[in-house]
Amino acid sequence: MRFVETWIPATLVSTRDLSPGIREFLIRPDQFDVTAYPVGSHINVSVTIDGLPETRSYSLVGEASPRGFTIAVRRAEDSRGGSRYMWQLAPGARLDITRPASLVAVDWARENYCLIAGGIGITPILGAAQALARRGANVILHYAVRSRADAAYLDELAAMLGDRLVVHASDEGKRLDLDALFASLPKGALTLFCGPMRMLDAARHAWIGTGHPLSDLRYETFGSSGTLPTEAFRVRLKGSDVELEIPRERSMLDVLNASGFEVISDCKRGECGLCAIDVVAVDGEIDHRDVFFSDHQKQSNAKICTCVSRARGTITVDTLLRADAV
Ligand SMILES: Cc1cc2nc3c(=O)[nH]c(=O)nc-3n(C[C@H](O)[C@H](O)[C@H](O)COP(=O)(O)OP(=O)(O)OC[C@H]3O[C@@H](n4cnc5c(N)ncnc54)[C@H](O)[C@@H]3O)c2cc1C
Repeated sequence: MRFVETWIPATLVSTRDLSPGIREFLIRPDQFDVTAYPVGSHINVSVTIDGLPETRSYSLVGEASPRGFTIAVRRAEDSRGGSRYMWQLAPGARLDITRPASLVAVDWARENYCLIAGGIGITPILGAAQALARRGANVILHYAVRSRADAAYLDELAAMLGDRLVVHASDEGKRLDLDALFASLPKGALTLFCGPMRMLDAARHAWIGTGHPLSDLRYETFGSSGTLPTEAFRVRLKGSDVELEIPRERSMLDVLNASGFEVISDCKRGECGLCAIDVVAVDGEIDHRDVFFSDHQKQSNAKICTCVSRARGTITVDTLLRADAV
């Protein structure tokens, strides 16, 4: 069960390859009113995977434009098929999308801003860089990429920021030292981060370790591939003899709901915690892929976010669904 989303029809106007693995899409809703949206907002796109409708979120690149919504999609190889679906679209294709929504609030009254992007995480950060550069704010962008050839928007960012753009390309041996970076930031600096989960974990530890308030680190991740390989696992329902198999390509949330063990959910990204249920026993290992629970809560294994988290082996859960209460 999920809260209702309002879909609006739109057309794919054009595409442009930004790197061998990243493609930009310009999408124009049929009724387009060019209302400004907070930078870093995203839209949801209805994609088709194995003939079934699914939703994937994509950050809007840059500030609002009369041309339409710009997104950039990385072709994910180890994937259920959302990005593959996007990549096979040709200009003129019809799409259903949602209106922009924002997950990260930017406080514009700070003196210093630090922007950090890891790989495709540059998409929501670019608009913030644009807006801050235009305001003449003291901003620096650290962009961590595998190689410059893999990176998107390097020329645009260099033109916008000059030497306030620092590229950390791992094939050039330039790794981003988050401890040193955060130690050098003045108190009161606001950091906006978007990158993979492991990089976010490192950023959170370094941020706290260097004494900055956690509320001054604002972040978004695009969903996590976790620390264990994505494989099938089994879920036992407490107080029943039901045991479900969660296949590699489906979430625990989807399987529980499809089997009649209803779990409410909202974001489906491991951020809101609404789909969390109790874990009663673990015969194997849980791979917590959410950003909702603290490290301590994850270690205790008392709850699991069913939308993104997975396991190895068999776990026993309590969905709190009581047949006599339905
Ligand atoms: C707010 C937001 C903004 C985003 N913005 C962008 C953007 O600007 N550009 C962009 O390219 N992407 C963006 N994403 C990610 C995007 O929504 C998709 O997740 C991405 O395109 C991959 O989709 P997919 O179906 O191809 O891959 P998925 O199947 O979703 O695979 C992605 C990863 O999840 C793992 N995985 C595979 N199966 C499962 C499973 N059953 N359960 C859990 N994990 C699994 C895979 O190992 C893989 O590493 C954003 C996501 C969010 C939440």
